[in-house]
Amino acid sequence: MASHENNEPKEQKELIKQQVPPRCPRCASIMVRQTARQGENAGNQFWGCTRYPMCRGIRPIQPSESSDKTL
Ligand SMILES: [Zn+2]
Repeated sequence: MASHENNEPKEQKELIKQQVPPRCPRCASIMVRQTARQGENAGNQFWGCTRYPMCRGIRPIQPSESSDKTL
């Protein structure tokens, strides 16, 4: 059996995944990326505490490279 070898150059998508999740401002737990399903920010992503709903600490995701809006 001949195994298929992928000699394609690796895409450097890891740069995006290397974003370190922040710590919860309330309980210092690791935060996970969440997507708001309702409310004014529906559809937007934010950092939510892994202890939710025990802890409702959230953080806004800071725009890195996609949107370059500077006030
Ligand atoms: Zn928390």
